Amino acid sequence: MAFLYVDSFVPGGDDLPGVADDKNVLLKHIRLILLDISGQPTITSYGDLYPKPPRGLSVRRDKLRSNYKSIWEETVISFDFATYGATANHKTFEINLGEFFLKKEIPLLDLKKVVLHEFLHLVVDVPRSMHHGQINTIISHGLGLRGDPNPFGTD
Ligand SMILES: [Zn+2]
Repeated sequence: MAFLYVDSFVPGGDDLPGVADDKNVLLKHIRLILLDISGQPTITSYGDLYPKPPRGLSVRRDKLRSNYKSIWEETVISFDFATYGATANHKTFEINLGEFFLKKEIPLLDLKKVVLHEFLHLVVDVPRSMHHGQINTIISHGLGLRGDPNPFGTD
């Protein structure tokens, strides 16, 4: 089950008041997005567990690794001040979101595309140089999300 590391989004004592607000909003938005793409989580004292991989994906049509559902089981989504934008680690299956996303005005649809983009990096079964073309195709055509599939030019 993908794990949303909630504590990483919870403001700490050394966060400035504006940052604390922004982290609370980002957590709320990430939870809405994961509810939308995966379904109801199990809430635990250490974070939220999302059992179902993003709905609407297809191994064949989207050229995904056949074990993409088990990769979802291992995925951990965290906030990390050491990251600026968004990253996905192919070895640990960690997705980190950074400071760039501490802005209340980021549309939910755009943030959803970022979360999907990073997860798809972990599961597309094409050469690395073709990842972005394939990820954009999946977001626009496979999943049918409107507008620019990569609105922030996420790596
Ligand atoms: Zn990318």
